[in-house]
Parts: sequence; C-alpha cells; structure tokens
Amino acid sequence: MQEHRYDVVIVGAGGAGMRAAIEAAPRARTAVLTKLYPTRSHTGAAQGGMCAALANVEEDNWEWHTFDTVKGGDYIVDQDAAELMAKEAIDAVLDLEKMGLPFNRTPEGRIDQRRFGGHTRDHGKAPVRRACYAADRTGHMILQTLYQNCVKHDVEFYNEFYALDVNMTTDENGEPVANGVVAYELATGEIHVFHAKSIIFATGGSGRMYKVTSNAHTLTGDGMGIIFRKGLPLEDMEFHQFHPTGLAGLGILITEGVRGEGGILRNADGERFMERYAPTIKDLAPRDIVARSMVLEVLEGRGAGPNKDYVLLDVTHIPEETLMAKLPDIMEFSRTYLGVDPVTELVPVYPTCHYVMGGIPTNINGQVLANNTQVVHGLYAAGECACVSVHGANRLGTNSLLDINVFGRRAGIAAAEYANAAEFTELEENPSARVEEWVAQMLSDHGHENVMTIRTELQQTMNDNAAVFRTEETLNRALTDVRALKERYAHVSVSDKGKRFNSDLLEAIELGFLLELAEVTVVGAINRKETRGGHAREDYPNRDDENFMVHTMAYKKGDGLISDIELDYKPVVQTRYKPMERKY
Ligand SMILES: Cc1cc2nc3c(=O)[nH]c(=O)nc-3n(C[C@H](O)[C@H](O)[C@H](O)COP(=O)(O)OP(=O)(O)OC[C@H]3O[C@@H](n4cnc5c(N)ncnc54)[C@H](O)[C@@H]3O)c2cc1C
Repeated sequence: MQEHRYDVVIVGAGGAGMRAAIEAAPRARTAVLTKLYPTRSHTGAAQGGMCAALANVEEDNWEWHTFDTVKGGDYIVDQDAAELMAKEAIDAVLDLEKMGLPFNRTPEGRIDQRRFGGHTRDHGKAPVRRACYAADRTGHMILQTLYQNCVKHDVEFYNEFYALDVNMTTDENGEPVANGVVAYELATGEIHVFHAKSIIFATGGSGRMYKVTSNAHTLTGDGMGIIFRKGLPLEDMEFHQFHPTGLAGLGILITEGVRGEGGILRNADGERFMERYAPTIKDLAPRDIVARSMVLEVLEGRGAGPNKDYVLLDVTHIPEETLMAKLPDIMEFSRTYLGVDPVTELVPVYPTCHYVMGGIPTNINGQVLANNTQVVHGLYAAGECACVSVHGANRLGTNSLLDINVFGRRAGIAAAEYANAAEFTELEENPSARVEEWVAQMLSDHGHENVMTIRTELQQTMNDNAAVFRTEETLNRALTDVRALKERYAHVSVSDKGKRFNSDLLEAIELGFLLELAEVTVVGAINRKETRGGHAREDYPNRDDENFMVHTMAYKKGDGLISDIELDYKPVVQTRYKPMERKY
C-alpha cells in the first residue's frame, strides 16, 4: 500500500472534476484521480451545447432561464440553486471562451446560439436560442479545453486509478469529516491511500444500469455507490432521464440539437405527433414529455418499422450544408450505425437512458450533506454524480454542461479554501482494509457467478420494468430481480487473478455499485406514488404536490440487502415560482 498526501483530492477528470481542478490547483496542492484518461471522460461525448442567456442572437435573460429550468424539472428543482446557475451561466461560457474553446460563431463574430428543448422566451411563449455550441462536439471541445488548462496549471493526474472507498472520521463535535480516498491502480494492482484535507467527487452518472443507454460503459455510478456505502444519503435517484432520440435498438445518442436546428419527429403515418402533445413548442418540449409521447405513439400502434417499435426523426427538409456544418457527428452516427442517410431518409429513434437527475446531495458550494441539515466537512461533489438540485425531476438539455462548469468551479474553490484553513485529520487505522478485502474476495475462488451475466440481467430488468413508464407491479418485479442479483453478486469471482491491468476485477467491483444504485432507484420509484418529470407512473398518472413536493433521501443502513434502505424526505427550496400545470 502506498500513501500520498494532498490538500485537495478530486475523484474524476470529466468536465466537473477538471473545472474544479483549475480552481483548486492554484490555491492548494491538488491531485486528480481518474479511472479513465481525462480526455476519455463522458463529457467528451456531449454533443449539442451548453446554455447561457447571453442574448447573442435574440432577446433572453437569466430569469427566463431560471423559470425554464424550474418548470422543466417539474417544480422539484431547488430554485435558489437554479437561479444561481442561470446567473453564473454567462461567466461560465465566457470563462471557457477565454480558456480557448472554439465555439461556433455568428457572422458578427459572437458565440452562436441554438434552440434546445424546454428553453423558451418569456416563460414558455416560444423556443429561444440559448445553447452555445461547437458543432455537435461541444463536450469534446469543453473537455479538451479544460484538460489543456489543467496542464497549464500543473494539475497532478493519477490516470487509471479507481477510487473504491473514502475514509471518514468525526471532529471534536462529533460531526462527520472526510479525510482520505482509497484507490486501485489499474496498471499494477497496487492499492493507494490519498490522505486529504478535502475531497471532491466528480465521478459522473450511472446510466449503465439500463440496457439501452447513451452512456459510456464506464458510467457505473462509482462515486454515488462509494458515498452510499458510507451511510450517507443519495437524493432523488428515482429520476433517471430518458433522452428521446437514441438510435433505435442501440441507444446511441442523436443530440436534441437536431430538433433545435429544425428536425421533426414523425410516427409511421408521417404525422408530426408532438403537435398533439405540446402544441406551443412541439418537438422542443422537455425530454420527459417527448420521450413519453414517443412511447405512447408506439404503444398505440403508430410506431414505424417492421415491429412498429420506434418513431422517425426527419431532417430531410434541412439543407445538407447546414447539417454538415452544425451536426456532422450525428450524420456520421446514423450512416455508420444504422446505415441511414439523414439527408434523404428518416432516422429510426427511440428513448435511451441518458442522465441521472439524482445523486449525492450537496449545497450550492458543493458540500456533501450527511442529512437534511448537516454537511460532511471536507467532502464535496459536483457534476452528474451530485444533486444540488438544479434539474429536479427532469433536466433540460444543455443544462448539464452548464452544471458541471458552474458547480465544478464552485466546488473547486470551496474545497481549496477549506483545505487552506484546515489541518490534516488522522486517518482511520488500516485505511485500505475494506478495499483489500473486496479485492481479495473477488480474486479468490469462492464464487461461481459471472459478472457479465449478472450485469446483463440487471440491465434487462431495469429496461423492462423501470424505464420511461413504471407501475407498482413492474417496479416490484425489478426490485425482486435486483435483490436476487445482489445475492448472486455475493458469489461472483473473476477469472483473471493477475495484478496488471485486471479490468475484469474492476468491472466486477463496478457492478456492485450499479446493483446498489439500481436498488435505490427502484425503491425510490416505488415509494413516489405520482408522475413527475422523468418518473412516469401509469398507476399514478398525475403530479401530487400535496404529498410529493419533496426530495427523496435514501440511506443505507448496515451491510445487508433491501430492508436496509431507509427513505426520508427533504423539502424543496421554492423562491419565486409556484408550481403550475406544466403545459408546453
Ligand atoms: C452522449 C451524451 C451526450 C450528451 N450531450 C450533452 C449536451 O449536449 N449538453 C449537456 O448539457 N449535457 C450533455 N450530456 C450530459 C453531460 O455530458 C454529462 O452529464 C456531463 O458531461 C457529466 O460530466 P461529469 O464531469 O459529471 O462526469 P464525466 O464526464 O462522466 O466524468 C466522470 C469522471 O469520473 C471518473 N471516475 C468515475 N468513477 C471513478 C472511480 N471509481 N475512480 C476514479 N475516477 C472515476 C472518470 O474517469 C471520469 O473522468 C450528454 C451525455 C451523453 C452521454
């Protein structure tokens, strides 16, 4: 075991982790641990854009942006956080511009902006151009720009280091303090302990618990799982977002920017069905509404294709030059993966699991909450693994690239300032013991269960029973399956027993996090007897503000299975907007 000491340790080198590092490194001695090379993080796959009310191409302001975010999130958004994000959005984009990000430009040389779902002018009157973009490679540009700036600031990266546990202690008042991260080095199989004054989790999402997903293989919710296993809460995990336009059958993403540039969804009859579901902004309604409408079209027999199981995305009316200039990657994806040329043919699409609105609860400075009132000293989270909550029950497109920049920056500053004021606290005795035990168990020959089989079955049951529409019955089925899989998981062992690049071992450990999070997702979904945002209960089709205008807080009690998840609630912060009926 090797021990290291840093003021600030950041886990994750996606957009949130690197934006935090750019702030933390000049202020305090900072290390970034990442299981992937930084530029392979999922942020690099983001396509469509990052929003800010710059008003570069038409009238706009941060207040409209705040309203859209709150309404888009079906009113379970913490409004103080949403307002702050919408206000800071403008500087967040300009900061990236100054760091060198090559945004698309207007003829006058300003950052160009395009339309995206749920972003509107004057409280829902019409779609507004708010998304700043770099073709359909916005995330790639953000990630590269942030990485270059990390290099400039001499950030120390530990690449292909898998964080598997966090060390905690208590201060003299009995309050929780985080003071170390235990990581496994892929290349050598060695275990490292990073003793730290403050720690930021920026480990991204957990979409891989579903079979059909736009998420990279690596999005297994590790950070959320690590935190949850410490007895700390996870917030609102029942809200996973299904993006309307995944390539049918594959889940590979076709950005909403396509509809922002004028793309239209059609059913088998050629009908532009979104006119019926969202008469004002049609195909640019928020994702939860579009995804549900698509599934309804299919359920009611108007799906396209031999099995009538998808709908069609039509861009044939958009000039090829525009498509190639603004959406080159999605042109290529359609041609490569489906053999469909969007210039002349309609693209088969169906909802794909895309984003988790819930996560590790934090306040607006990224501090992790131990419960509704108490923070964990020295522990921060930002990005998709965190829940501030600015996305509520449904995130608007382009608000995540914004979230990671705004809250990554805030967490980086807060963590460094905390570290500069704090002393190192003493690590627990034998800080790497738990990780050593897991690794030894996986490598031993005690088990007969196979990682891939369990993962496939997990993804299948989540897809079948806890996707766009859910009922008590389907969710109970998912819960029974997930619990059975957890029991089988206890008997997993991996065939590669080696120390070097043992990715089998790490996939087995990642599966443990996914199972844990799937259970939290399903338990929260069973309990939330209403339909709100990305959580659509067929048996409770209406929103129920009287009973469920609250965040779900899920805690793990003990080391056991389901009976050990305890649910609690946290009030939603409401400032200026009263919940209204959500019409578009
Ligand atoms: C295909 C696609 C397109 C998207 N398009 C858009 C868009 O146009 N606009 C928008 O706003 N949002 C978009 N999103 C969502 C957005 O890109 C993500 O939510 C966001 O980039 C997440 O950033 P992050 O920094 O939180 O996590 P990520 O970028 O996923 O980074 C996670 C980091 O954590 C590290 N990590 C994870 N586990 C561990 C561990 N155990 N130990 C060490 N390191 C670990 C990884 O190595 C990685 O560096 C898109 C998402 C997808 C999947």
